[in-house]
Amino acid sequence: APAALDPLPVLGHDVRVPLATGEEVTYAALDYAASAPALQRVWDDVAAYAPYYGSVHRGAGYLSRLSTELFENSRAEVASFLGCRADDQVLFTRSTTDSLNLLASALPHGCEVFVYETEHHAALLPWGSHGHRVRVLDAPASPALAVELLERALAARDPYGPALVCVTGASNVTGELWPVRELAAAAHAHGARIVLDAAQLAPHHPVDISALDVDWVALSGHKLYAPFGAGVLAGRPDWLREAEPYLAGGGASRHVVRGADGGVAVEWHTTEARHEAGSPNVIGAYAIAAACRALRDAGFDRLVERERQLVRRVREGLAAVPGVRVLSLFGADAPRVGVLSFVVDGWDSSRLAAALSAEYGIGVRDGLFCAHPFVRRLAGEAGEAGDGARGPRNAVRVSFGAGTPDEHVERFLRAVGELVARGDRP
Ligand code: PMP
Repeated sequence: APAALDPLPVLGHDVRVPLATGEEVTYAALDYAASAPALQRVWDDVAAYAPYYGSVHRGAGYLSRLSTELFENSRAEVASFLGCRADDQVLFTRSTTDSLNLLASALPHGCEVFVYETEHHAALLPWGSHGHRVRVLDAPASPALAVELLERALAARDPYGPALVCVTGASNVTGELWPVRELAAAAHAHGARIVLDAAQLAPHHPVDISALDVDWVALSGHKLYAPFGAGVLAGRPDWLREAEPYLAGGGASRHVVRGADGGVAVEWHTTEARHEAGSPNVIGAYAIAAACRALRDAGFDRLVERERQLVRRVREGLAAVPGVRVLSLFGADAPRVGVLSFVVDGWDSSRLAAALSAEYGIGVRDGLFCAHPFVRRLAGEAGEAGDGARGPRNAVRVSFGAGTPDEHVERFLRAVGELVARGDRP
């Protein structure tokens, strides 16, 4: 295995926050799955570019031309980072949610969409709200069962109609890795296409569109250490080229004339510009490309190895605390990224998360993580109220990544141990 790394420098590593006692400690950001801190290198790259910022695709001036070049180069860098095929398009969006809605808006008429109930709402909801028929698959108990369920569902569909499978690469609830390559093979064997929700996978693990043989990948800059309001949809150009533009406006249109019918006639671009109407988020796109460079230059395999060690430490640490149950679909030993959710017997998850913040300066998240059906199922399996009268049970999620020092993980484990020993005091 490659040698492990020190954490990468990130913004906010020395931020001091007040505790309930009035004492101050450095903030332990353990909510990477919601938004990761910016890599220092991304911040530096953006700062170096900022004085040269100009309008993209419009101006004749030097800075406009430079910005346009950097914006288009950012596409190329993201394409290379994601292992895109030669004709794939890389679209800059606002986020994973935006990317998946864009794709939903571009699906051919009559497209059936297959999703697991375990998906984040961003991957669960866009299809139906764009008028497509959605088939929800049950949460599988193993990766092999996931493939089996999909094959069965696809075999029962109209083999001549268009179909799309949407699946997460790593769960935002359990962090568990999904068998993306196998699911892609199953989709393609049944004439369906597949989009990978890589919001949680991409920050923790190299994603290669070609090797995985997925049709599209969606991700968010703010989870990929580039918090500047941009996301990516990368993949097959054909459905995108044939679809109505996601937004109508300048930049997406090639020619616009007064129509013979008294209205407006428009010819749309067939490149990425078709779905990027309006002035693009140049800094956001540039920052994502900077994050791709930073991860690549750091040696992504070494980051993966370091994170694997942190995951093992957290799993072992939590396992040693009585009454703690880590939520898992594929089993305690299933490979996962640095995202773990857990519940504690006798503790309200919201109060536990609040105590971690107030007493230890640790930032985690509690709730249902925008994956209500999934968390209800997992929490329900503990014999607690799932959909029942007491309502869904929350969980606490701890998540970390390239910038996480060992001390944050150790502080977190010590805090959980101490709080659980003391007991919940509403
Ligand atoms: N998919 C997954 C798996 C996620 O974890 C998230 C963010 N929590 C999203 C999609 C949506 O990402 P965004 O909020 O950046 O649109």
